Amino acid sequence: MKYTPVIGLEVHVELKTNSKMFCRCSADYFGKKPNTHTCPVCLGLPGALPYPNKKAIEWCLMIGLALNCEISLFSKFDRKNYFYPDLPKGYQISQYDEPFCKNGFIDLSNKKRVGIRRVHMEEDTGKLIHEGNSTLIDFNRSGVPLVEIVTDPDFESAGEVVEYLKKIQQIVRTLGVSNADLERGDMRMEPNISLKNEGQKELPKYRIEVKNINSFKLVDKAIEAEIDRQTQNPGQRFQATMRYDEKTNTTVTMRLKEEAADYRYFPEPDIPPFHWQQAYIEKLKKDAKVMMDKPSEEEERTQELLIKFSPISPVSAATIARDPKFYSSYGGTASIGKDEFGTPYQGTANAIINQKVPLVGISDEERAKIIADLNRVSDVDEDELNKTIDEVLKENKSAVEDYKKGKENAIMFLVGQVMRMFPQKIDVSKVKASLLAKIK
Ligand code: ADP
Ligand code: MG
Ligand code: ZN
Repeated sequence: MKYTPVIGLEVHVELKTNSKMFCRCSADYFGKKPNTHTCPVCLGLPGALPYPNKKAIEWCLMIGLALNCEISLFSKFDRKNYFYPDLPKGYQISQYDEPFCKNGFIDLSNKKRVGIRRVHMEEDTGKLIHEGNSTLIDFNRSGVPLVEIVTDPDFESAGEVVEYLKKIQQIVRTLGVSNADLERGDMRMEPNISLKNEGQKELPKYRIEVKNINSFKLVDKAIEAEIDRQTQNPGQRFQATMRYDEKTNTTVTMRLKEEAADYRYFPEPDIPPFHWQQAYIEKLKKDAKVMMDKPSEEEERTQELLIKFSPISPVSAATIARDPKFYSSYGGTASIGKDEFGTPYQGTANAIINQKVPLVGISDEERAKIIADLNRVSDVDEDELNKTIDEVLKENKSAVEDYKKGKENAIMFLVGQVMRMFPQKIDVSKVKASLLAKIK
């Protein structure tokens, strides 16, 4: 009897954001003193509430876009419930039926197209450290942003899998969202393996999931070992979770595979669902494309210099480095803007990339001056402000009601919402006055 291996992959990628997924603790935990990067949120203490990390979500969307996924305009977090000591809350905040990204693909060198089922956001667990007869727990990793990328069962060999993994590693590094350092555990891989009989059309009704492998070489060996085991023991093809033992070069059963129902998934009640604007997704798509288009060596050098000497975002640096009309006006304008007007480098970069100033025909001084004026607190675009306030009032009806009922604090909440959405620097008292004028 001849068999064809059927392999699907789950990959976890740790993001290199400054802070954790749902709290302000530093996510830079590697090699740090245990339990020093913790707070009530990532320790799961009663009453502590999660607050999602915007950058992490944006990076998750960028990964999805680079993998040709659709971004759902509606999405949410869910609780995945299970009991294990490295999971202090007793559940992991993850995504179940509404992942941020789905239905993507990636092409291999043999022209095979591998389907990407989903790319979702979740949080990492703590780390168990076994010492002699005792087990210690380090929660520094608890709550670090983790992206999970799940493929269709489209691979037929370990070689294809390893090529795919190297591509994923390269993509997240190019996007600048993860170091994808295997030795540090930034990328953890779980192959699912079954065998199809010759001529069999439908997927096998079972699969073996091999847990948590953190090197390409071991993925390769684990897949080969598991294919061997299933080939030689046709009676031993069952649904289970296994681990790969390097010493014996065999896969070993850990537990019979759990089903989704075992996790009692339900929507995370402490984080409201997400509704993305199409325009926001289009912008991220453009950013992902800029990052993924291979730069020339010179562009790459320029990009690095820009980041080094003027702290702007990697996407802005890439955009400027790759377009001569941006590049020729950026450097001089940015330093004059900074020195003479106190304009942050990112402010100059935004104005140039969004072409809010003439890029040719004027001097750097004039351009820096225009940008400074654009950012001046007093010259607020009234129409834009009114539009923003109307939107905020529409989306926060309950805060408006609260205010009308006498809850003074509600007004400051609304002020905060307006300032967050308004593209210019703006004075708090100005926003408050305009808001009050509308609410009355
Ligand atoms: P879960 O979330 O329970 O692990 P999924 O249905 O999302 O389950 O599948 C996980 C992985 O298993 C996916 O990468 C998928 O491609 C792979 N897979 C599904 N069916 C098979 C199969 N018969 N053989 C090998 N891999 C499979
Ligand atoms: Mg799984
Ligand atoms: Zn924390």
